[in-house]
Amino acid sequence: MSARVCPACGAPAKSGQLLCRACWGMVPAGLRAAVNRTWRAWQASGDARDRPHLLAMVRAYRAAADAATDAARKALPGGAAP
Ligand SMILES: [Zn+2]
Repeated sequence: MSARVCPACGAPAKSGQLLCRACWGMVPAGLRAAVNRTWRAWQASGDARDRPHLLAMVRAYRAAADAATDAARKALPGGAAP
């Protein structure tokens, strides 16, 4: 089991969380809602036989997660982390 790190700042993050607590707090509410909504939609379709639908759910979540990570990175002191 590998330790999860926050993709925005590199600090340890709990498994099941996209970002560490500090970074998550810097993500705009609308983006947080999008991450949660797309995550739930993905989980709800986890046993779907409809592969294109499942892939669309995963892509929607990844897009929301990437946008949230970007927003947290930009909010960090010093801008983008490596
Ligand atoms: Zn972080």
